[in-house]
Amino acid sequence: MPPPPRRRPTTPKRRPPELPTGPGGLLDWRHGHWSDVRAQCRYCPQVTNLRDIYGRPAHKVCAEEAARRWVEEQNERYENERLSQQ
Ligand SMILES: [Zn+2]
Repeated sequence: MPPPPRRRPTTPKRRPPELPTGPGGLLDWRHGHWSDVRAQCRYCPQVTNLRDIYGRPAHKVCAEEAARRWVEEQNERYENERLSQQ
């Protein structure tokens, strides 16, 4: 019998936040981002009816801020990798 598949504890992959496509780094959440259930925003202690593209509670401004930080992080990582390869 083959050994049972070994499950390595996988670190949850960080999914990129929805990145704004509009001018000014603003997200278009006019459609499909509303829930009747209020829940705590994943970025701040306030509750919200809004949901991000993954269906997680988030304020639009908080998600936009997260997207901005994420892009910054990616740029930094890219820069660090570039520097370490020289
Ligand atoms: Zn928030």
